[in-house]
Amino acid sequence: MRNLHRLAGLPNMNSLLKHPRLQGLFRERAKYAAQEFLDELRNSMLSDAATPLPGLDECAESIRLKAEGLATPQLRRLINATGVVLHTNLGRAPLGEAVAVAIADICNGYSNLEYDTETGERGDRGVYVERLLRRLTGAEAAMVVNNNAAAVFLMLGALAKGKRVALSRGEMVEIGGSFRVPEIMEQSGAELVEVGTTNRTRLSDYTAAIEEKGAEALLKVHTSNYEIVGFTESVSASALAALGKEKGLPVLYDMGACFMVEADFLKLGTNVSARSGIASGVDVLCFSGDKLLGSAQAGILAGRAPYIAAMKKHPTARMLRPDKLTLAALEASLSICLYPEEARRRIPVLAMLAANPAELRRRAAKLADRLRPLCAGWEVGIVETEDETGGGAMPNMPLPGWAATLRPATPGDLSLEELERRRRPGGGPVILRIRDGMAPPSLRTLPPGEEGELL
Ligand SMILES: *Cc1c(COP(=O)(O)O)cnc(C)c1O
Repeated sequence: MRNLHRLAGLPNMNSLLKHPRLQGLFRERAKYAAQEFLDELRNSMLSDAATPLPGLDECAESIRLKAEGLATPQLRRLINATGVVLHTNLGRAPLGEAVAVAIADICNGYSNLEYDTETGERGDRGVYVERLLRRLTGAEAAMVVNNNAAAVFLMLGALAKGKRVALSRGEMVEIGGSFRVPEIMEQSGAELVEVGTTNRTRLSDYTAAIEEKGAEALLKVHTSNYEIVGFTESVSASALAALGKEKGLPVLYDMGACFMVEADFLKLGTNVSARSGIASGVDVLCFSGDKLLGSAQAGILAGRAPYIAAMKKHPTARMLRPDKLTLAALEASLSICLYPEEARRRIPVLAMLAANPAELRRRAAKLADRLRPLCAGWEVGIVETEDETGGGAMPNMPLPGWAATLRPATPGDLSLEELERRRRPGGGPVILRIRDGMAPPSLRTLPPGEEGELL
């Protein structure tokens, strides 16, 4: 009962909203925040008699902070200073200015998403992107779904349902976030025929799977996030494609991540472009849009026209279809990929992967010079780093990079752990890795111009 009496002392909404600290705020938001504040205060007073009743000024200040919090998106930009280019937890690929403009334009109004402006009739979403994909990959046909996991699912569901599908034991991968190839296969209605061993699979193992176990399709999965080293053997996509052709069976290839440009500046090994995947002769290839391609989250399927047509007609295709924002982003990225040198400048993922270590070193030194006056009591310097591609692409291939470093000059000063807490008010905005007693912001994943924000 005493509690209920105290509730009568709560300020009322009108007097709160008239408080000087709440003037200049968007009215509806201030009201929403005040209501939430009062509800919370009331509940806490009811459940705990010791809850103090704040004064009017204190209430207004809490409401102001709440209203500002409501105005701040919770999904927000942050600075990736980890040196991991495709960081799945940080949204994988940054898309860059050209793509941002294309998306903004499309979401600001209506579009010809499924409307043919020439004939005035209903069109097919995806045609613009598919045309670019055919040009860039050399494939007969292509289609886009929401992500590569969906692409694998659709590929198996539409082309291998009720069929026995041969897959090497060395390629039964888990990608993370509960994507396990054997389970996806089961869900899609295909039946797994295990081929070879974990470390060695030969072409003759596939032949045996076809002749002795009745395999009716061949699947190859890129082992994106691990490597088997030592006594190993695996069958290349082109050898598998040749076997499929000889036996008249479809060959499907989940490539995971691949480049859409073929250029020396990438210096990142051959056979990782979509064009090389298609050239290997497989019937259908799939890969992610937001890994090495450097665009929006999407799954891209490319290959022989009858197979792509069958996937487009499959009932699940409607559930997996991409949004106009995805298609706008992909079209913008792919248009840039037609010109490799331009792609190197304007596709952030490519720019970061192709960054020249000497240039990164120069930028790190400059950043250190700017940090020094801000960080009294700290040793500031530069250090070589092993950056990563990330995103399950190209494991065990460190990229030599450079970072500025911070180290407490005297023990007992602010520790790195304390620094880490300070740099993350409510979760953002700078993410870096603490290594060897240092917190080195790597320059590779810091687009030029973001240094100021970092400082
Ligand atoms: C990343 C990856 C996937 C999943 O792709 P998402 O676009 O993340 O859905 C599937 N297969 C392989 C081989 C991959 O590398």
